[in-house]
Amino acid sequence: MKIGFIGLGNMGGPMAANLARAGHEVTGFDLVTPCPEGVAKAKDAQAAVLEADVVITMLPNGAILRSVADEIIPAMSSGSCFLDCSTVDVESARDVAEQAQLAGLLAVDAPVSGGIGGASAGTLTFMAGGSDEGFAMVAPLFDIMGQKAVHCGESGAGQSAKICNNMILGVTMIATCEAFAMADKLGLDRQKMFDVVSTSSGSSWSMNTYCPAPGIGPQSPADNGYKPGFAAELMLKDLGLSQQAAENIDADTPMGALAKALYAEFVENEGGRGKDFSAMLPRFEKRGRT
Ligand code: NAD
Repeated sequence: MKIGFIGLGNMGGPMAANLARAGHEVTGFDLVTPCPEGVAKAKDAQAAVLEADVVITMLPNGAILRSVADEIIPAMSSGSCFLDCSTVDVESARDVAEQAQLAGLLAVDAPVSGGIGGASAGTLTFMAGGSDEGFAMVAPLFDIMGQKAVHCGESGAGQSAKICNNMILGVTMIATCEAFAMADKLGLDRQKMFDVVSTSSGSSWSMNTYCPAPGIGPQSPADNGYKPGFAAELMLKDLGLSQQAAENIDADTPMGALAKALYAEFVENEGGRGKDFSAMLPRFEKRGRT
């Protein structure tokens, strides 16, 4: 396939490289980041999408996605597919898909889970929204860039799944961190805490796979000075997206709202910016009830 790839940052770069390694003809464009090996550099976004069968975007947010979509949709070939893998608000995903469909294109929103490690290893999980035809066209690319793709429903359904998933993740990470800090004060050994919780009903991905306590459980950013990983500010962005959606649809999400408030405090006032989102544990260690 001919693939245009726009947004070659921490995630997009390795995803594009994996597609090129698998034998696809990939042309890339990024305002700042250089193309990875095997990806041809286009002079601008329009040049990257000309004659492409599939155009993939991996961009920071919905506003940037909308502006890139305005630029590239008129240049895309009829019948080609616009595959957005960024994490954006559900409304932007739906609007961009509609704009693409009106221009005679297929459109799929497919945000990912699995982080930078998953992008490099080709083990991402894709959660996709769009037509059956669109999903079928890009499914072979999901197989290269990831290990699992779930077709969640119509346009926007991928983003809906992503923000619900990450709302759970933000809440469980905070709960895991506050419980570790409390266990410390109770005099409980951290390894014993992990051994019990990871095999009990308090277990979660945050505890079992991404344990926020250094030296405990599998390797995680906690073992690397809380270097991200998944930055606290990206978690804050995703919690903002879920709260924005909750407001739009009148959903009651008190735990999500509290998680957003705590990450906002952490990122904006407590030195959390640039740290992994699991660095909530040292935050709780330093605090008492008041
Ligand atoms: P990043 O900042 O490393 O990469 C974004 C890239 O987009 C940058 O290289 C930037 O130069 C480029 N860009 C911005 N505006 C552009 C434009 N108008 N034209 C062309 N290029 C442009 O971010 P990332 O970590 O790769 O994340 C990308 C998306 O993936 C985000 O939506 C993020 O929420 C999501 N995501 C990230 C992770 C993670 O662990 N990093 C995990 C899952 C999902």
